Order: sequence, then C-alpha cells, then structure tokens
Amino acid sequence: MKTQVAIIGAGPSGLLLGQLLHKAGIDNVIVERQTPDYVLGRIRAGVLEQGTVDMLREAGVAARMDAEGLVHEGVELIVDGRRVRIPLKELTGGSTVVVYGQTEVTRDLMEARQAVGATTIYSADNVQIHDAKGDSPYLTYEKDGQTHRIDCDYIAGCDGFHGISRKSIPAEVLTHYERVYPFGWLGLLSDTPPVNEELIYAHHERGFVLCSQRSLTRSRYYLQVPLTEKVEDWSDERFWEELKARLPEDVASRLVTGPSLEKSIAPLRSYVVEPMQYGKLFLVGDAAHIVPPTGAKGLNLAASDVCYLYRILVKVYKEGRTDLLEKYSELALRRVWKGERFSWFMTNLLHDFGDAKDAWDRKMQQADREYYLSSHAGLVNIAENYVGLPYEDVE
Ligand SMILES: Cc1cc2nc3c(=O)[nH]c(=O)nc-3n(C[C@H](O)[C@H](O)[C@H](O)COP(=O)(O)OP(=O)(O)OC[C@H]3O[C@@H](n4cnc5c(N)ncnc54)[C@H](O)[C@@H]3O)c2cc1C
Repeated sequence: MKTQVAIIGAGPSGLLLGQLLHKAGIDNVIVERQTPDYVLGRIRAGVLEQGTVDMLREAGVAARMDAEGLVHEGVELIVDGRRVRIPLKELTGGSTVVVYGQTEVTRDLMEARQAVGATTIYSADNVQIHDAKGDSPYLTYEKDGQTHRIDCDYIAGCDGFHGISRKSIPAEVLTHYERVYPFGWLGLLSDTPPVNEELIYAHHERGFVLCSQRSLTRSRYYLQVPLTEKVEDWSDERFWEELKARLPEDVASRLVTGPSLEKSIAPLRSYVVEPMQYGKLFLVGDAAHIVPPTGAKGLNLAASDVCYLYRILVKVYKEGRTDLLEKYSELALRRVWKGERFSWFMTNLLHDFGDAKDAWDRKMQQADREYYLSSHAGLVNIAENYVGLPYEDVE
C-alpha cells in the first residue's frame, strides 16, 4: 500500500490529523493497535479550548459538538474555604471553553472518516517504522498472520505515551524532561446531573477535588489520592462520602449521587521529549508530551500539535515549502512548554503534597493561592491560560 502520510494511532491526534489532511486532498492511512470499540471506550478529557473547537470545525466534524457541547464562560476555584469564580470570557476578551467529552470527539472523527471512506487499519500488531531519516520511509505491521507494508512520504507518530514512534528514534537524539507527582486522581463517571453549572477545582486539606462534567446529565468527579490507593478499595459510597467531605457544605448538599459508569486511578506526570521530529517522522500529542490533567491541557496540546503539522504539510504539498518541515518541533514545543507550565502550576497550586513539600514550599504554595485568587492580574493569568494561548502562524 502507498500513501502520502502514514499515521500511527487512531486517538484524537491521529483521527483529527487524518480528517484535516483528507479535507485538504492529502492521502493518509491510519494504523491502530486496538479495535474501534476499545478506542471509544476510553474515558478521558472533557474540556476543549477555543483553538481545539476551531480545528474540529475546520475538519468538518463539529455539528454534534456545536449542538450538544456546553459553552462555559467561567470556572470556580474553592481554596481554603474561599470560593472564587473566574469569569473566563470577561477576563480574556471573549474566550470560553466547551465541555464535550473526548469520547464524543473521537466518535465524531471516526464516523467522519468512515463516511469519506478513508482507510483506518484497526487491530494492527507490531507496527514498525523504517527509514524515517531516509528518502523512502515506510511502516510495517502484522494483521491476520501476515506482514503488511505502507510506503509513504511522511509518518505522523500519534500513538500516545506508550506508543512505538518515540521509542523508534535513536536514544542519543532525544532529551526527556519529566516530573512525577506523589499522588494520583481517582475518577468517577456517573449519569447524574453536575453539582454545579461550571467546573469546580477545590483545594482541601483532605486533598484536591475536581467537579467536572461531560453533559447536563453526565458528571465526572476526581479526588486526589495517594499512589498506593487501589480502585477496588473505593466503593461508590466511599467515593461520594469523600467527595462531600472535601466540598463546602452548600455544594455537598446539592450533590446528586448515583452508580458509577467508570472508576479509575490515573497517576499524575509531566513529560516532554525534545525534539518532536526525526527525519520524516513527526511526534504528535501524547507521543511527545503528557501533562497532569489539572489544567485540562492534554487533548488541547494534542490539537495544537495537529494544527501545526497539518498547516506545514498543506504548504509542503501545495506550495513546495519543504523548508517548513524543520520548523515543526520548534513551533509545537513553544506552545507545549506553556501548556506544561500551566498544568504544573495548577497542580502545585491546588494539591496537597504532604511531606514532598517542606515548610518553605508550603508557605510559597499558600502565598501563591492568596495572590492569584485576590489579584486581577492573577485571575487574568489563570483565565488566559485556561482558555488556551493563541496558535502561532506557520510561515
Ligand atoms: C486516564 C487518562 C485521563 C485523562 N484525562 C484527561 C483530562 O481530564 N483532561 C485532559 O485534557 N486530558 C486528559 N487526558 C489526556 C488526554 O486524554 C490525552 O492528552 C489525549 O488522549 C492525547 O491524544 P493522542 O491521540 O495524542 O493520544 P492517545 O489518546 O493516547 O491515542 C494514541 C492512540 O495510539 C494507539 N497506539 C498506541 N500504540 C500503538 C502502536 N504501537 N501501534 C498502533 N497504534 C498504537 C492507541 O491505542 C491510541 O488509540 C487523560 C489521559 C489519560 C490516560
């Protein structure tokens, strides 16, 4: 098989890139290790920045998001018993976020891809990258007991943190930056109305809480838990009781509880690899970087990587601008690092680090909380990062 761009991974990065390229007349094939049902079953992000919304519209997959997504003009922070609403729209000159689940984004992209007849190979085993540095890159994969080959011009490694793309780049070329946090998030998804119209991020001495949502009838709540916790030790009842204990009484009294649809513990980690390019292989999204979910940036950074790579490839194919290929990593990383900074900042601001912070660090954390929540400049800082920093032009 031959294509222009071979994409590894049918998560949001791979599917969005594939859809945008297809619309621009650039042929692409996606190879994915899992089945479509498995991909759709993953419960993950839910807050879309304006830039991500714009990319989904440009890809022509926004009809359901525009009809069902919830536009949020503000977000609430509860810190040390003090409740502060951050009016995102007002503080950023009109920007908002849209609450629409990653699962729904993925479903819309999958359906659009199927409708245009673009090729996605699911259940592809042992995907391997060949000759990424040379003139004739290609992929091989195994399916139904046979080895297949896809020749291509470029390879997009959209295969997430555990994928093979990053690992296929020689170790001496890469620099890794990492911060592992001494806690995780226990998440619960339920078909219950959200406790609040807007998202609530709360710092409490028992640990951090996020009251998030996927729709007017589906809620997603998170509790900070030690890394030693096991999900099977958390009955729904225990989860709801702990959540109530960490929320102010008036909010806790409004909480509607119900059976969980999903419950899981995710460790929190910040990670970036540099560069995000090796010859004709480009790393996109979680393949190159991950963030703790506190800033709602994971999916959104994946979308900005896609935007840069897509805009570059269009100029390569339509205008012969192969010089731009070398700029991808630099462009993408500039925005990635700002997203990493904000995610790290929000994580530091709102979590209880226990013994991992000394007395000085705890005082700094407290001073940060007081400063950011009582200063107009502090609130603007949080607001403009939360709605998403602008994308740079590709020139
Ligand atoms: C548990 C969890 C909770 C999260 N919650 C949030 C949140 O609340 N907010 C937020 O903003 N972000 C969150 N994120 C992050 C967000 O989901 C990711 O940033 C986003 O999924 C990145 O998309 P991606 O397409 O780059 O990677 P992925 O979604 O990881 O997709 C990669 C795809 O590549 C496939 N693949 C992997 N290896 C191979 C291989 N060898 N061959 C072929 N295919 C392969 C995978 O099966 C997968 O389909 C969460 C992530 C996790 C893991």
